[in-house]
Amino acid sequence: MGKKVLALGEIRDGELRNVTFETIAAAKQVAGDGEVVGVLLGEDVSEFSNELLYYGADRVVKAEHYNLGNYVTDAFTQVFSQVVEAEEPEAIVMPHTSPGKDMAPRIAEKLKCGLISDVVDIEGSEEDATFTRPIYSGKAFEKKTVTAGTLFVTIRPNNIPALEKDEGHTGDVSSIEVEVNDLRTVIKEVVKKTSGTVDLAEAKVIIAGGRGVKSAEGFKPLEELADLLGAAVGASRGACDAEYCDYSLQIGQTGKVVTPDLYIAVGLSGAIQHLAGMSNSKVIVAINKDPEAPIFDVADYGIVGDLFDVVPALTEELKKVTAEA
Ligand SMILES: Cc1cc2nc3c(=O)[nH]c(=O)nc-3n(C[C@H](O)[C@H](O)[C@H](O)COP(=O)(O)OP(=O)(O)OC[C@H]3O[C@@H](n4cnc5c(N)ncnc54)[C@H](O)[C@@H]3O)c2cc1C
Repeated sequence: MGKKVLALGEIRDGELRNVTFETIAAAKQVAGDGEVVGVLLGEDVSEFSNELLYYGADRVVKAEHYNLGNYVTDAFTQVFSQVVEAEEPEAIVMPHTSPGKDMAPRIAEKLKCGLISDVVDIEGSEEDATFTRPIYSGKAFEKKTVTAGTLFVTIRPNNIPALEKDEGHTGDVSSIEVEVNDLRTVIKEVVKKTSGTVDLAEAKVIIAGGRGVKSAEGFKPLEELADLLGAAVGASRGACDAEYCDYSLQIGQTGKVVTPDLYIAVGLSGAIQHLAGMSNSKVIVAINKDPEAPIFDVADYGIVGDLFDVVPALTEELKKVTAEA
């Protein structure tokens, strides 16, 4: 029979994030023969509606309000709750990103339903859908099913592949009137701390520096390589504590959890708390001058050497390859 599934899109810094398409793909699988309703929340989201259809949504619901320009817990939770009330879905899929992680438990509490968070794989569909999620800081995985109530999951970016874009796929786009009341927080201005263009959580390639980079200046070779690869730059807590970079770059147990296709760990030892945030990356390359560094235990490829020789050499080689291509 199929399920009616809401798939929440994510707009940040005026851009529709790729995780939106992965969320739709996950929703499609859960829905089986049912309907996937793409949901967009924001101040003005019209320009993104078709993209949701192209990536597989059967129809799109927009909820626009001037209080939704930036993510604010109260406003987004209120508005998404109203969409859920109007649509009465049997399942909800959200990105496991900062806004998704913040909003999902609140919505689940309102609906009095369970929540399976941080899903990295889905097998089966509808009633038989089984969700895999990492536990114990990624050292093990558990599989869960939902036996009662609204099925509600958040999906980790970069794990569930988006469907092929099909610009011929059309569907209904409608708006829902929403109210935002009694906001406890209103954002007046957003001052960005980092200027990185690629979001860490969603990046396909990450170059992370540790205390081995020795200074803020020491991140420069990493940034140059990142520019070339279209990668995001991350860091160990060692590098953040030493004030070589901002804490927003920290990856690990108390930082961001990432699963890129390629993770290049540079001058970081691979402490257990760091591994908790990156060990599920698809391919790990480690560059460290200490052959005994624990990062080599999880690396697929290791380069033993001084990062200040190895990283520029890699950049030069890659420049040659890109120039030839
Ligand atoms: C409760 C708790 C939570 C934590 N959460 C996190 C977290 O979320 N993320 C995190 O990263 N850490 C976290 N930590 C800290 C963690 O335990 C480590 O202290 C930290 O990860 C070490 O950072 P590092 O690898 O950069 O530094 P180090 O351990 O000092 O390693 C530096 C590495 O650089 C190499 N190196 C030095 N110079 C060069 C060079 N020129 N070329 C090549 N290699 C070089 C060295 O051989 C060494 O392996 C946490 C700790 C605790 C107690």
